[in-house]
Order: sequence, then structure tokens, then C-alpha cells
Amino acid sequence: MPTTLCTTNDAEALIQVKKQHIWPCVYHFYRDPPVIARGEGAHLFDTNGHRFLDCYSGVGVMSAGHSNPKIIEAVREQMEQLCHTTTIYISQPMLRLSERLAEVLPENLDSFFFCASGSEANESALLLATLATGRKDFITFENSLHGRTKAAMSATSLPMWRTDPELLDSFHMAPPLADPNCLDAVQRLLQDYEIAAVMYEPIQGNGGIHVMPEGFLSRLKTLCGQYGTLLIADEVQTGINRTGKFLASSGMGVTPDIVTLAKALGNGFPIAVAATSSQLAEAYRKPGASTYGGNPVSASAALAVLDYHMEHQLGDLAQQLGSWLLDVLQEQLSRFSVVKEIRGRGLMVGVEIVRGAEQQTADYVTQLLEDLKDAGFLLGRTGPGRNVLTIMPPLVIEQSDLQSLVDAIEIVLDASNSMKVPPSINQNS
Ligand code: PMP
Repeated sequence: MPTTLCTTNDAEALIQVKKQHIWPCVYHFYRDPPVIARGEGAHLFDTNGHRFLDCYSGVGVMSAGHSNPKIIEAVREQMEQLCHTTTIYISQPMLRLSERLAEVLPENLDSFFFCASGSEANESALLLATLATGRKDFITFENSLHGRTKAAMSATSLPMWRTDPELLDSFHMAPPLADPNCLDAVQRLLQDYEIAAVMYEPIQGNGGIHVMPEGFLSRLKTLCGQYGTLLIADEVQTGINRTGKFLASSGMGVTPDIVTLAKALGNGFPIAVAATSSQLAEAYRKPGASTYGGNPVSASAALAVLDYHMEHQLGDLAQQLGSWLLDVLQEQLSRFSVVKEIRGRGLMVGVEIVRGAEQQTADYVTQLLEDLKDAGFLLGRTGPGRNVLTIMPPLVIEQSDLQSLVDAIEIVLDASNSMKVPPSINQNS
């Protein structure tokens, strides 16, 4: 019998259980965290019935909204039939999903390796690149995050997420995307090493919402072509309409050789995929299997997700709401001296805050996020200095909710210069 039955609604008591039983690396947001119990559309509810606008979607996952009835129905139907077989048996859901993805992705991305997480999809993409080119070196960019497994973490540049002291030395970091010398540096690396692939995020998510500059990606693709190097898009965060297009890379006019997707593909059910051309996939003929890859329940969820996105035109919505949001944020927040930059694309938006030195800024942002949570708004936090307020809500969010978010940020920024307390969205509910 366990000594504690974890039935409490009290955050303090739950944090004690967490301290006792969960590895300390698993950190959580907020000094005084809500205990999240339920979600609906763009909202989350805690065990005390307080409502929060979910402005981070569980890190870009819940694009089709919490408790989406269409997705739940598809999953329930599948669970009643079959939960798991693994890929040693033939079953329908994974194969139906492969046909569906081939329809919605650019033409030469029609061959898939399914797995369960973004890290695993990136690991698979890197492996395929090595098998296809016979090369072992890779280029990624400063500020990147590609995952937690050995190669995916070696591809990651953000110090906070490079935990392993023994990472692979075959990964070379090019300067940040915004550095005017970035592509020259990439070219030098391509000359100096036999590079299998360049891996990039079209918009760096955890790096602080940095959009690739105009024309950057097509120049990168041309460079890669000159050196027989493959281009891998990590669209784990940007994929499935987050930025207004199904793939952010397509919005930048480029089809990469390999694309990885995860997060929003399952809307909460674990599924990820590495997509490439049938020709390139030929390089990986030795057995490869992921126990949960193409799991029937997750694949059914993903099929329902794709239907929902299509039916409700979530890509167009993300584009429209996103450009409106950037304008409103500029209008209402640019007067604050602590707001250094507002940037993003679609519903992937960052508000960079700077107030004094790095630690002072980080402490200030901690307080802003705490105040916003108390007002009923849960935001993300990204950037190497953990100083970018990050807005990636479910794509089903109402414009009026986004307006109330911007108003709340404005009030909280004002209040941070005075002693005013922002009103909570729960006062009237
Ligand atoms: N790539 C990117 C761009 C990500 O944002 C993440 C997770 N935040 C990953 C890869 C890793 O995904 P996962 O946690 O599903 O392994």
C-alpha cells in the first residue's frame, strides 16, 4: 500500500508528493500553481473551479482545443475496437493517416516513420540523413531546441536544455538566425565538414520566438543543394497550422527533404512523425520500429485532428488572428520601456521583456507571469534569458479572449510600476 494516496486538491500537498517521487529535473511554472483539472476549448479550470485562458496550449499541443468532442469521439470509437498492435501487424489507422498526411503535405513528403514524441521524430530524421548521405556531421542554429534524446539534445543549442555533459561532437552550431553573417557561417561549415543535414526550426520556439528572416530559408536550401546536404525542418512546434500554413516552411516557400511533426498532430495524444520522399526513405531498409509508432488510438486522434483543422480552417484562423494580435500587442504594449520586441507569425507570438540585467529581468518576468496567472491567463516563457512572454493559444481561441489577454498584459505591466492589482477573469464568472 502506498503511504500517500494522491487525492488532494491542494497544490502544496501535491508539490510535496512531486518532490518525493518525481525526478527533480521535472520543474513546474508558478510559485503558487493552480491544480489543473479540466479543459474546454481555449480554457483550463483548476480544482477550485477557477477558469484560465490557456495561452500556451501545453506547449503548442492543444491547437484544436481542449476536450474537443470530435477528437474524443474518434478516440473512444477506436479504443473500443483496438488500442495497440505495434507495426509488426497490419492495421488500418496508421495507414489511413499516412494517406491523409501525403494529401496535405507538399508533394515529395509522402513517406512516413511514426513514433511517439518530437525528440524521437528528430532522432529518426537525423538517422535517415546519415544513412542517406553516409555522413555523420550536422549543422543546427544557436537558440535551437530539438529534443531530449542523445542526438536531438546534441542538436540543441539552448544551454538550459543541453543537460548531458557528454553530447556528440558531430553537431556544429551556426550563429543565431538574425545574425547577418549566419549564412556565411553555414557555408564555411559546409566547406569544412562533410555535413549530412542542416536541421532548423522555421520559428525558434523555446529559443524565444525568432522567425527566420525573409529569404533566409530559400538561400539555405540552395546552399545545402550545392554541398549534397539534406535540409531537415523541425516543425514539432510550428507544424499543423500554428503559423497560418500547414507547415511554416511552406509559408517561407521551401519544401525541406525531411520534416518532423509532433505536438499538435495528436492534440494531446502522443504521436510524432518524420516525413520524407519515398526515394530518400529507401536508405533506411534495415528494421526500424517504434513500439508505439502509428499506435491505432493516436493515429485515430491525428486523423480526427486533421479533419477538424480542415473543416474549421484553423490555418486561416491562425493567420488572421495572429496578424490582428501582433497589431494589437504593438498598439497597446509598445509604450512600455520594458517591452523590447514583439514578434511572431500566426498564433506563435513572443513579447520580449528586458528590465536591467539578465537575472533581474528573469525575476521580473517571473512576477509578471504570476500576476497574469492570478488574473486568469496562463502564458509560456521562452528565450535563453527566459524573458520572452510566449503566446501560443489553441487555434480555436476567440478574438475577444485574445483582446482580454492583451488588456491583462497591459494592466500587469502598468501595475508592475505601481501597486495596482489586475482584475481576475473569475470575478464575473
Ligand atoms: N523540437 C521542438 C521544436 C520542440 O519544441 C520540442 C519540445 N518542446 C521538441 C523538438 C521535443 O519534443 P518532445 O518533447 O515531444 O520530445
